[in-house]
Amino acid sequence: TFMDVVKEVARQGSASCKSVAIRADQNSYSYNQLISSAWRISRLLCNAGLKTVDGITGNEHLDGARIGIVAKPSAEFIAGILGTWFSGGVAVPLALSYPEAELLHVMNDSDVSMILSTEDHRELMQNVASKTAAQFSLIPPVPSILSQTTSNDLSQTGEMDVDRSLPGIGNSNGIEGDDPALIIYTSGTTGKPKGVVHTHKSILAQVEFIPKFSVRGVWQRWRESYPDNGNKAMDAVTVFTGVPTMYTRLIQGYEAMDSQLRAASASAASQLRLMMCGSSALPLPIMQQWETITGHRLLERYGMTEFVMSISNPLRGLRKGGTVGKPFPGVQAMILAEDGGDDTTGVGELCIRSPSLFKEYWKLPEVTKESFIDGGFFKTGDTAKVDEDGYYVILGRTNADIMKVGGYKLSALEIEAVLLEHPIVSECCVLGLPDKHYGEAVCAIIVPEAEVKRKREEELKPALRLDELCTWAKEKLAPYKLPTQLFLWESLPRNAMGKVNKKELKNALASEQQ
Ligand code: ATP
Ligand code: MG
Repeated sequence: TFMDVVKEVARQGSASCKSVAIRADQNSYSYNQLISSAWRISRLLCNAGLKTVDGITGNEHLDGARIGIVAKPSAEFIAGILGTWFSGGVAVPLALSYPEAELLHVMNDSDVSMILSTEDHRELMQNVASKTAAQFSLIPPVPSILSQTTSNDLSQTGEMDVDRSLPGIGNSNGIEGDDPALIIYTSGTTGKPKGVVHTHKSILAQVEFIPKFSVRGVWQRWRESYPDNGNKAMDAVTVFTGVPTMYTRLIQGYEAMDSQLRAASASAASQLRLMMCGSSALPLPIMQQWETITGHRLLERYGMTEFVMSISNPLRGLRKGGTVGKPFPGVQAMILAEDGGDDTTGVGELCIRSPSLFKEYWKLPEVTKESFIDGGFFKTGDTAKVDEDGYYVILGRTNADIMKVGGYKLSALEIEAVLLEHPIVSECCVLGLPDKHYGEAVCAIIVPEAEVKRKREEELKPALRLDELCTWAKEKLAPYKLPTQLFLWESLPRNAMGKVNKKELKNALASEQQ
């Protein structure tokens, strides 16, 4: 529920609680100040005789009592709504511009038990309340960040035990996603204003921005940011960063649009300031297609959880496809040769020394030890080389992407990039499977384009045959790099970051073949 989000914010500790939650009237209010104020309002409501006690949990809460909230857009207004939710009530926010008769209608219609307002509207609202069955109370001013030194609110301590102190959200039975949270009244153009009940779940759905990556959602957000009429939206997206699969899927989504929508989408995307990619190898064909559609040359970077970002293509200057650019200032990169030396001209394991390096793996002292070499360099587990311009090329993970075929070392990523250019191939994954003669055999798992697959299946043909693929790839790949095994799959198993766990796949496929 939305309350879980608030609770999470409160739980995150002083650091995030002290950051700015709202700016209003040239003042800033922290999450902590806001939540502390809401907590006080919640106590006020629970103590006002409106309370009921939950028979199961023993927790006090308002059990859906309606609380009218009338204030100008301000920290107090938000605190009033949150406080109502904390205590299990339903907020009925009202615009001050309503004439008194309308205010009365809404208050009576929604059966509010309490009207909350601020000092500046005390007279008006007290008067309204006196004509209803509701009590009246003032929302205490929320201290702003500047006034913090003089306030005695809970934000001073930087911590707050939300679980115990907030009746409504303290127990998981207290508020469910489907419970009403807000009643908003329609304008009353066609009759009396109607109360529109929103639940905690429906509110959450509105405030999340694209909670999960969705191709449609992203394209739509860009079109809304840069509409056809040239009026850039106030909250326009200017920077986008994604993993390679996202771009693959965005391209597929684009291709499925009609020509008018395509034009609007491409034009909108072209107006973002910067688009970046990282987290796994960006195949060249995807980069090129993206540039053709949006005009953006993706800025590819290389990073790891262990040191965050350390090698990047430049913002200004040459962004070289198939490379991850050059080390950041302060970062030293080294290619570890097989004999343990530094091999700047060859292929080897990429090692990084950087002020941003992590300390250790939690509870894994052995792994930590094995990951560092002399001089404080961290072994990334990735195989790399440096090109003629000093740009780093990631050839893949040493234990999963680097195959050993008949004495040759091959990069699965290089083969994947070629196969992706085939018109029938939508996604692909290349890996080495054990082979009696050559040590490893090149195996390609391919997800065919849905449309082509459907048509071929109607003709009772497989979407793609190994010999067809090899005939096509012969001119682009040396003979020993051509796949000798082909699997056609509906999709590739990817983790949350869109990466394929090749080691796992390799083991599964190898044991299947035994
Ligand atoms: P785990 O360490 O748990 O197995 P992981 O290595 O995928 O997972 P991350 O730290 O998120 O976890 O990812 C770092 C890895 O991602 C790098 O070691 C590298 O293999 C890969 N990677 C990141 N950026 C790029 C890039 N631009 N090109 C190729 N590979 C990349
Ligand atoms: Mg890793």
